[in-house]
Amino acid sequence: MPKTVRMVAQIIAEKCTGCRLCEQVCPTVAIGMRPRRADEPGKGRNIAILEPEACYNAQACVEICPDDAIEMVELGTPFDVGFELPQVDQEAVKALCRKAGYGRNMQICVCTDTKAGDIATAIIAGAHSPEAVSLATGARTGCVELCMQPILHLLACAGHGDAPRNPKNGFQWYGESATLWQHVQPDGTLPQAIRDAFPEYPLAKEFGDMAKLKRR
Ligand code: SF4
Ligand code: SF4
Repeated sequence: MPKTVRMVAQIIAEKCTGCRLCEQVCPTVAIGMRPRRADEPGKGRNIAILEPEACYNAQACVEICPDDAIEMVELGTPFDVGFELPQVDQEAVKALCRKAGYGRNMQICVCTDTKAGDIATAIIAGAHSPEAVSLATGARTGCVELCMQPILHLLACAGHGDAPRNPKNGFQWYGESATLWQHVQPDGTLPQAIRDAFPEYPLAKEFGDMAKLKRR
């Protein structure tokens, strides 16, 4: 299950140029900007600021900062995310996972071991954007990319496929890509026409196994 956050980002103000790259990639939107005061050393009009409780140690900011202006520091008191999810109607969770073509216990975020049922729970409880899902569950705060598509797909199946990008013009995600999951039928199989179109792939077996998982 989800994650214990043991490290948090720290901005080195005098090195920061206010380029906003870190703000655009943080999966939990933990970074914003503030104006640089006249008496503060460094270049640029703005300086990045961090909301520490929203930093889940994804380190996307550290990787992208062109000026080495972010470092990770150990937290005196680590905190847990995603271990306790809100109580929601389990039939609704099941139905959303089924609609998306996932089993409730299917692993969606490999980094934090977050399951499809956890993501569906967060969405039903009110997380209507990928960032809100990450904040609620901790998912997508490891590699920040592998689980993006299934999260977007679950959101779309719940009627939230049009979530605005956060922050505006951010490039942490670009919308749902076309995948076979979008064609999964309520019984967990793919339409025959699709299976016939790709005879080189074992789609009947793969999606048949998926259908078995979905019944759990
Ligand atoms: S990208 Fe990761 S490390 Fe950086 S502020 Fe966001 S959650 Fe924290
Ligand atoms: S990426 Fe680095 S230089 Fe740019 S705003 Fe963030 S901390 Fe500052």
